[in-house]
Amino acid sequence: MSNETYSFQTRLLHNNHKYDELTGAVSVPIQHASTFHQKSVEEFGPYDYGRSGNPTREALEETIASLEGGSHGFAYSSGMAAISLSFMILSQGDHVVLTKDVYGGTFRFVTQVLTRLGIEHTFVDMTNLEEVAANIQENTKVLYVETPSNPTLKITNIQAISKLAKQHNCLTFVDNTFMTPALQRPLELGADVVLHSATKFIGGHSDVIAGLAVVNDDELASQFKFLQNSFGAVLGVQDAWIVLRGLKTLHIRMEHSSKAADVLAKWLNEVPEVKNVYYSGLPTHPGYQLQAEQATGHGAVFSFELEDYEAVKRFVEYVKIPVFAVSLGAVESILSYPATMSHGSMPKDEREKRGISDGLLRISVGLEKVDDLIADFDQAFAKLRQKEQV
Ligand SMILES: *Cc1c(COP(=O)(O)O)cnc(C)c1O
Repeated sequence: MSNETYSFQTRLLHNNHKYDELTGAVSVPIQHASTFHQKSVEEFGPYDYGRSGNPTREALEETIASLEGGSHGFAYSSGMAAISLSFMILSQGDHVVLTKDVYGGTFRFVTQVLTRLGIEHTFVDMTNLEEVAANIQENTKVLYVETPSNPTLKITNIQAISKLAKQHNCLTFVDNTFMTPALQRPLELGADVVLHSATKFIGGHSDVIAGLAVVNDDELASQFKFLQNSFGAVLGVQDAWIVLRGLKTLHIRMEHSSKAADVLAKWLNEVPEVKNVYYSGLPTHPGYQLQAEQATGHGAVFSFELEDYEAVKRFVEYVKIPVFAVSLGAVESILSYPATMSHGSMPKDEREKRGISDGLLRISVGLEKVDDLIADFDQAFAKLRQKEQV
């Protein structure tokens, strides 16, 4: 049924799970059973116990593996479960090199959990290949990349990092949450593990917490399978179904939201109250060219910096369309404040070192008409100006 010659957007719909073999149902059936009857003492069926394997979860795992160009996918109860469990292939005494502006939850896990298990780390600027190379040690096992990074949108060269990793017998992990396979496929660029918070663009509707991992190697896959079953943080079947449904519209959502983000970022770049816009779609961004080479778009998330905390507070009060919330990658635009939200678990000095100032806001552009967003932001800036004059 699957046809690898179809384009990505067609394969979102026409894949191995286009319909159910048994009934012809055009939506993947949700299999709730926790256990499966076995024919005899000697004959076991494809499933035995729901934590170890479930057809609904497998449908999602196969689909994400195929979309990322990998051999095996794994679905977990959250993005953090996917990320934490991937690190669990490491052992005491191992070392990880990771990007300085890593997701706040990953920062917390690496600095507060892995260290207790004797797994050490070094933070580097991943966009600086010399700095990365200089920090690889004898015991380094993983180079951990997040690109574009959160929330300052730095672009890391996935191909160059993967090459460097291979030279040092390390694995490359890429958190592909911001891009999704619709825009960027790290395994095709040489990475070993792709990670997702499917809570974001893949689910796409702010209605599920889920995580995914994809690998393209049988040995790595069996380690991941073993850990998934050992830890048991598997994705529930209802949630697997919600993620599968979200995936069907991934391409069209990413296309719309990326275009709208590009227009809004360029507009904000001309607003006098905006000190900085961090978006790789701006030709002045240092990662502009690299992003155009390794991905097919700049994505729907970007950050912009206002004067200070006071300005942020007022802007958030005046703006009407975006929800003001943690998270990103949904049908509705989401405005967030990294200092206390995504990076709330990072100490202030660490945060500021990463450019996450008290004036920084992040926007994840949804499916609204961009003209409406611009008009809304425009009225908010107008009010900000009025108050300033008072
Ligand atoms: C949200 C997010 C995560 C964590 O995912 P959860 O589903 O919230 O556990 C990891 N990485 C990035 C880039 C994220 O945005």
